[in-house]
Amino acid sequence: MALASKLDHEGVRVYCICGDGEIEEGQIWEAAMSASHYKLDNLCVVIDNNNLQIDGQVDKVMNIYPLDQKFKSFGFEVIKIDGHDMNQIINAFNKAKTIKEKPTVIIAKTIKGKGVSFMENVADWHGKAPNEEEYNLAMQELQK
Ligand SMILES: [Mg+2]
Repeated sequence: MALASKLDHEGVRVYCICGDGEIEEGQIWEAAMSASHYKLDNLCVVIDNNNLQIDGQVDKVMNIYPLDQKFKSFGFEVIKIDGHDMNQIINAFNKAKTIKEKPTVIIAKTIKGKGVSFMENVADWHGKAPNEEEYNLAMQELQK
């Protein structure tokens, strides 16, 4: 999409959100290499870096680190932020718009289930929904 926008002179920016477990897949790195090759400065990738995936800790299942150096070596501008800090998120998106001739990746450090005591950093919540009791408890904790 980012390449098509460039070729068609549409001026469209493309945002792509990836999980940190998801980026273990080879097609991600093929796309990253292409984005850099075609100088896709209209592409902004956000990595949700909670270090959890369905099978457990990302660095135990398939170590992806050092993530910043990997994306840098693939030709990306790298911005690291606290993914729970809205000011940092806005500043990162604004900075990404100013980067020319290369794509940007925002590595957002996050905590899965942040704000809900029984969900924080628990990989088990990767792929299941809370029951009604758990939902109500989670909503109570989030409203504090
Ligand atoms: Mg993850």
